[in-house]
Amino acid sequence: MSLGELHADLVECRRCPRLVEWRERVGVEKRAAFREEDYWAKPVPGFGDAGARVVIVGLAPAAHGANRTGRMFTGDRSGEWLFRALHRTGFANQPTAVHRDDGLVLRDVFVTSAVHCAPPQNVPTSEERSRCLDWTINEIQLLRTVEVVVALGGLGYDAVLRMADPLGWVRPRPKPRFGHGVEIELTDGPTLLCSYHPSQQNTFTGRLTEEMLEAVFERASTLVGR
Ligand code: SF4
Repeated sequence: MSLGELHADLVECRRCPRLVEWRERVGVEKRAAFREEDYWAKPVPGFGDAGARVVIVGLAPAAHGANRTGRMFTGDRSGEWLFRALHRTGFANQPTAVHRDDGLVLRDVFVTSAVHCAPPQNVPTSEERSRCLDWTINEIQLLRTVEVVVALGGLGYDAVLRMADPLGWVRPRPKPRFGHGVEIELTDGPTLLCSYHPSQQNTFTGRLTEEMLEAVFERASTLVGR
């Protein structure tokens, strides 16, 4: 199966009734600022370079961001931070991501998430996270060239560790504590780099600065020998 075929199946997924109801309702009710737009309101596939050596795993699409635009981290504040950092570190051709046809090209990086539908309050249940993990595992299996995985936030980190067994990566036990800049070698797998999520809770409070986020991608760049 190709990545395109996988994504064609993914966008039809309706396995989580609560998330299906929410993503579609948000797409009808809309935020006032976007009332003229057609929301995507479906599962959001990962996107980027199919030959990427670096994969970024976030949590889930934002209701009025990726759930609106149909592309990961596109059209929301977290994405503004993420793509600015990717541009500054040479992984993206431009610092902005506003809609699916905005000319953004990622080089050597692929962006996906643990859950592919927008959840209420940005919090998927553990059942929803378990149910969706197969999609992300399948995406990563199809990438084949992954050397570094960047986990955004504690839930992104948990998702990567849960993917380890099915992907044949050996995770350390006991589980290392999540923290910004933590680096973990997964035997028979990639290096796992941890980053605070560029959510507004972190960026508004100064817990995560632009320099801290860039440093993670500079490290990823070094690890893959760019
Ligand atoms: Fe399907 Fe994942 Fe969306 Fe659940 S969250 S409906 S498993 S794509």
